[in-house]
Amino acid sequence: MSAYGSFLNRICKIFFIFVLGMLIISGCRQRSSAPAEKIFVNGHIITMDENISEVEALAIGQGKILSIGTTEEIMNSYSDAEVVNLKGKTVMPGIIESHGHLLSLGQSFLELNFEGVTTPQEVVQKVQERVSETPSGQWITGWGWDEGAWAKNYPTNKELNKVSPENPVYLRGLHGFACWANDKALEIAGIKKDTPDPENGKIIKDAISGRPTGILTNEAQGLLTPHIPPMTPDQVERALKLAIEECLKNGLTTVHEAKTSAEMLEAFRSLQKKNELKSRIYVMLDVTDKNLIEPFFIKGPEIDPNKMLAIRCIKIFVDGALGSRGAALLEPYSDAPGEKGAIVTPEDTLYRLTVRALKSGLQIAVHAIGDRANRITLNAFRRALGEVPQVQDHRLRVEHAQVVALDDIPKFAPRGIVLSMQPPHCTSDMPWAETRVGSERIKGAYAWRSFLDTGAHLTFNSDFPGETLNPFYGMYAALTRQTPDGRPEGGWYPEQCLSRGEVLRAYTVEGAYSGFEEDIKGKILPGMLADFIVFSDDILTIPVQKLLSLQVEQTYLDGNLVYDKGSVFLKK
Ligand SMILES: [Zn+2]
Repeated sequence: MSAYGSFLNRICKIFFIFVLGMLIISGCRQRSSAPAEKIFVNGHIITMDENISEVEALAIGQGKILSIGTTEEIMNSYSDAEVVNLKGKTVMPGIIESHGHLLSLGQSFLELNFEGVTTPQEVVQKVQERVSETPSGQWITGWGWDEGAWAKNYPTNKELNKVSPENPVYLRGLHGFACWANDKALEIAGIKKDTPDPENGKIIKDAISGRPTGILTNEAQGLLTPHIPPMTPDQVERALKLAIEECLKNGLTTVHEAKTSAEMLEAFRSLQKKNELKSRIYVMLDVTDKNLIEPFFIKGPEIDPNKMLAIRCIKIFVDGALGSRGAALLEPYSDAPGEKGAIVTPEDTLYRLTVRALKSGLQIAVHAIGDRANRITLNAFRRALGEVPQVQDHRLRVEHAQVVALDDIPKFAPRGIVLSMQPPHCTSDMPWAETRVGSERIKGAYAWRSFLDTGAHLTFNSDFPGETLNPFYGMYAALTRQTPDGRPEGGWYPEQCLSRGEVLRAYTVEGAYSGFEEDIKGKILPGMLADFIVFSDDILTIPVQKLLSLQVEQTYLDGNLVYDKGSVFLKK
């Protein structure tokens, strides 16, 4: 190369370095000079990055995290911003509740609530009080008596008929697998002595007289429910708003609504339009409503630019629940040799729906509890993915995956299937789950650790309102596999317990992943939505028992305070 050539080469290099330098400087300036509306300092801020690092301070502006760092750094960079002194409190990303039922939760605030009620007499008494203030003939509805706990000895409607002869009474069970109705309600629905049981359901009848006792299990509830007047759109909105307030109180800034009906979707849209949707909603559309889902197979997902409402998932049930022996098992129940549960969506139907969803950019979430339901789901997903191989990032989901054949556990991760599981189900079911499935199958039940070890994506949630939506309770269950009073000692199959970091990831980062939203939520890092919660104890270090009394003090969404424990709801 000539001297002139090498001179030119040097000039070019210097120019290149100069331009690069200018770009870097302007990039930094842009970041540090973006106006912050608010800064939070002197905290334990759990970022939920790869190392679960903590920082002291963060800055927010226009609904997003602008920057994180030490208190000094953030104070110096944003001297004009409003300062919130966290005084050593802990901050973490808002919880992503990846499976809950908002309307049922909201309804429970509008109707009679029997959660925690231990005797049928108490239920009857509450109904009697409600009858006294209800016009004759009007339906009285309630929710929350424990059909699991009372299954050995279901109540009859004798006392209900006495206190409510004119008002039809319909009381749903805590988990939705049985209801309890009075004679007036049965009469309206035309349920009589000679009414046959529907498939997958039972009209419980008196052994001597043969008359219905008022208890309808599983699909038999469908004989009654169409006769109950539907909620008005106003009532649906009111119920959803109450449910969302409860979510914010518990630190849930995103909720995956796990069976969204047309009425609910309309209410979500209406609330969003009025700017009254206060937590982010990820919708799983109810597959049984063809009119609801067909348009989405044509147009694909619908994601609101403000990230408040995302519609991109379809929910399909493949079986029922373990408690009521509706979960589909490969071999008979250990405590009911003639029963194997029932498949409600056959493999071929699931396969066809999955192919259509994959082609439209939609996600499928399958309720699969028993090992047979899980195998059918695996097969249907494998066939569908084989037919639409171009869709790599599908995040097909299995909800619950509660009892899975040991051979099948390693088959989820390689296919990219996301597991959505509920630690509270484990601790609620552990007194009787092994009786249902026996000592071998139980090794693949609530098997979080086994799934994680295969490299699977695992998100945790509560499936409220059947379980409390308090995420700290779920975290306790995932860490200990014990009841709140510490039983059994050492935990139930404790080899499946997870570490604190794994549990926190399952409630944040993985929840975001399960909704294709890991780029905008689940972590406190620059560029993420400013959705976070504040509480008093450091969740990474407090004794595990203290999780049970931990309470959210503040919840922020888009950088706005939407719940404050010491105050009322601030942003109505
Ligand atoms: Zn559910």
